[in-house]
Amino acid sequence: MTSPSPEFARYERKKTELEASWRDEAGQLRLAKSTISNLFRYKDRGAAERKLSLGDFNNVIALDAEQRTLDVEGLATFETIVGHSLPRGFLPLVAPELKHITIGGATVGIGIESTCFRHGFVHDGLIEADVLLPSGRIVTCSADDEHSDLFHALPNSYGTLGYILRARIRLEEAAPYVHLGIKRFDNAGAYLDAMQAATDADDNDFVEGLFFEDRRFYLMLGRFSRDVPQVDDILRRNIFYKLVQTRGDIYLTTSDYIFRYDPEWFWNIPESPFYTLFRRYAPKRFRNSSFYTKYAATKNRLLDMIRGPRDTGIEPLIQDWEVPWQHGEALIDFCIDNVDLGGLPWAAVPIRTPRQPTLYPIQADELYFNLGCYCQVRRPEGKERFHYTRIMDRKCFELDGIKMLYSSTFLDEAEFDARFNGSTYRTLKKKYDPDGRAPTLFAKVAYTG
Ligand SMILES: Cc1cc2nc3c(=O)[nH]c(=O)nc-3n(C[C@H](O)[C@H](O)[C@H](O)COP(=O)(O)OP(=O)(O)OC[C@H]3O[C@@H](n4cnc5c(N)ncnc54)[C@H](O)[C@@H]3O)c2cc1C
Repeated sequence: MTSPSPEFARYERKKTELEASWRDEAGQLRLAKSTISNLFRYKDRGAAERKLSLGDFNNVIALDAEQRTLDVEGLATFETIVGHSLPRGFLPLVAPELKHITIGGATVGIGIESTCFRHGFVHDGLIEADVLLPSGRIVTCSADDEHSDLFHALPNSYGTLGYILRARIRLEEAAPYVHLGIKRFDNAGAYLDAMQAATDADDNDFVEGLFFEDRRFYLMLGRFSRDVPQVDDILRRNIFYKLVQTRGDIYLTTSDYIFRYDPEWFWNIPESPFYTLFRRYAPKRFRNSSFYTKYAATKNRLLDMIRGPRDTGIEPLIQDWEVPWQHGEALIDFCIDNVDLGGLPWAAVPIRTPRQPTLYPIQADELYFNLGCYCQVRRPEGKERFHYTRIMDRKCFELDGIKMLYSSTFLDEAEFDARFNGSTYRTLKKKYDPDGRAPTLFAKVAYTG
């Protein structure tokens, strides 16, 4: 028998220590990490009884080039994962575009990307996971073992059934560059037809889009490339979403492509003279989404201290929705006609998943249109808080769609249960968290005002 690699041995040691330390633990759990959270719930989370620090579980364990798999600890970020696998010629099947999203968070939080039309969601690349149950027991689960019910319920569980300590994920071969071809359309129907056709073609590695309220629709088709005529700079000189509107072709390193929206937290770094200088000259460690997240939180805290907490009418519209492809045009028309983003873009991604997870009611093998919005908006005069999120959620459900839960839900518990398979969730919760040490999914995601 071969001895485990030093990385596996280190991981096993940490796991044993975690189990041993558990005996003294009590109270409801909340995860503490060393990187930022990419949740965007519209309410304060309140104090946790006990924070469980898993910040050390953030390393790559082993890449198997022959099997095209990667073993990685649950709190490893995609920056770490891509930084390890890309120089060896590989990438995860789906790699989210914010650097500090973790493999554990993206697996339980329905991670998406421009490869979803081919590979499904982040969790569709999961082969096996070690999960720390809320009781402190650690189990290994995969698609067809004794804990397969847990494996299939991890997506959309948001840590409420346990925390992933190790994931084995599938990889695909990758080249050092990505060539993006950009086509502009002036109507939603033609845009969606072209996007759908692109998902059927064999030669697109990435398919995605951006569109604006003045009905400019941009389709981006990406292909891996070993050689490019130039490399565009989207860290200092250009802002990615602006470049898309001015060019037919963009050439990026693959790493820059994967994290193309990270430096500007999509399109949220302002464009004043100060920020233009910041963009150009700030040390690289400040040019990422974690910096923006921390900066925005600090700014809001300071403003609250100076002028007292108050409703300014500016609120987040940070959310993804998915509808069956045939309803994509209706969703586009609705958002353009009813939501004012002040000229910022909507993001579009086609998704086809090979299997339906237990807690996320998407049809396997059907093409879905994913719409994303990641900015602050001004609420229309006289409307209730989070007006735009509420009307978009409602429209999405009307169109047989699904709302992602990294943001807040405004459903009551009965409708939430009906939509997200609440009865099976309760059975799983009894089995894997009989003492209720972790909150329920509804308690975690419901907006309570
Ligand atoms: C502005 C914005 C943009 C986004 N863009 C993208 C995108 O481009 N692509 C994409 O895929 N997703 C995107 N997301 C969604 C994101 O992937 C999810 O919110 C994801 O759950 C965040 O994971 P995290 O690693 O940051 O973990 P956190 O935000 O810290 O935690 C998210 C949830 O997962 C749980 N969790 C964290 N780690 C683990 C673990 N190891 N095991 C079990 N549960 C765990 C936490 O308890 C929590 O409920 C975006 C979210 C926002 C707010």
